[in-house]
Amino acid sequence: MALIVQKYGGSSVADAESIKRVAKRIVDTRRAGHDVVVAVSAMGDTTDEMLDLAHEVAPIPAPRELDMLLSSGERISMALLAMAIHSMGFEARSFTGSQAGMITDSHHGKARIVDVTPVRLREALDEGAIVIVAGFQGFNRDTRDITTLGRGGSDTTAVALAAALNADVCEIYSDVDGIFTADPRVIPRARKLEQVSSEEMLELAANGAKVLYIRAVEYARRHGVLIHARSTFSSSEGTYVLGEGMKNPRAIEGEAMEEPIVAGVATDLSQAKITVAGVPDVPGKAAEIFKIVSKAGANVDMIVQNVSAASTGRTDISFTLPKADAATTLKALAAEQREVGFENLLHDDQIGKLSVVGAGMRTHSGVSAILFEALSAGGINIEMISTSEIRISVVLRGDDVAAAARTVHSAYGLDSEIEAVVHAGTGR
Ligand code: ASP
Ligand code: MG
Repeated sequence: MALIVQKYGGSSVADAESIKRVAKRIVDTRRAGHDVVVAVSAMGDTTDEMLDLAHEVAPIPAPRELDMLLSSGERISMALLAMAIHSMGFEARSFTGSQAGMITDSHHGKARIVDVTPVRLREALDEGAIVIVAGFQGFNRDTRDITTLGRGGSDTTAVALAAALNADVCEIYSDVDGIFTADPRVIPRARKLEQVSSEEMLELAANGAKVLYIRAVEYARRHGVLIHARSTFSSSEGTYVLGEGMKNPRAIEGEAMEEPIVAGVATDLSQAKITVAGVPDVPGKAAEIFKIVSKAGANVDMIVQNVSAASTGRTDISFTLPKADAATTLKALAAEQREVGFENLLHDDQIGKLSVVGAGMRTHSGVSAILFEALSAGGINIEMISTSEIRISVVLRGDDVAAAARTVHSAYGLDSEIEAVVHAGTGR
């Protein structure tokens, strides 16, 4: 008998039928003799709809009230799920984040979990109940207010519960069958991975893969939680995310699991590029520029500085950042133009990023050559390049990204024989 934490995303509990399907899955796990703790998201697009509503009544909704509002979405789904389980003859009890002991800091809208005290959950488990917890929310002890963990926060709720309860596995259910070598919506020949290391998963998530949220993967890595990403709509095995020293429970003793050099190709269309042109090529200018950028609150990703033209003694510095941060950053830079002494600012929000991630890059050469050859064969122009130990990223025209991803995916031999099944919804 194991203790299993399961997380169901919004698209898995979008309507009454779906809630009953999820209830049956939970009951089946219970019937198999396991203790079950469930973290559940708000139904379908509830959170988005509530956000829209909030912005209709107030241009800038008060963060405390916004958390009150948004946390109600998960209360609806958790209660309905518990009722559905009751009607199947099983005992289930739902708990809000604060009842579940999900203690966070006080940052409304992006609170971090600082402690989990699941006393009531343990009691309920001891009494034989299935436990349902509202995802995405917590409670701050100082302000005594409800907080939310940021969009997609239910993954983190599930992982934190798994860590606090010392669960055997944290199963994260969505509408795709697991973690793929690419987004199956972009690349239908994407292949499901049996396993992926948490460091690869972090790079994939940070570079646009949307199956698992980065904070949940980080939390799991830090606390040694085994994640199994799988689909609500099929019973097939998903993908295990393995932290350091963890073993795939399905690995056969003595048989090495296939470890591809490249784990996946991720794409990201959420960034923009700013170029600060005609910067005097003297020490200290980059420091000045990025101090302004960081004060504006922008999260810079890639940076490229051109060779300066000898005739002018000036250079261009380009960087990428989330589209949402571009306007404030441009304004902040423009205000200091005279001080820094650059010539002008260029803004480009039609870019896209393509990243290739694989721990095998550490030990294999020629991985980047395959990428550049594939892009060149496809006639695709590269605008920026950056690398980490296990990742190569390129910035392209946004319109080129989908085609480039397909070409690159094939070039690394990642295409599967069959098309991936995408069951429903938005991937969450
Ligand atoms: N309902 C929240 C959201 O849509 C949390 C979640 O789905 O994980 O972001
Ligand atoms: Mg959601």
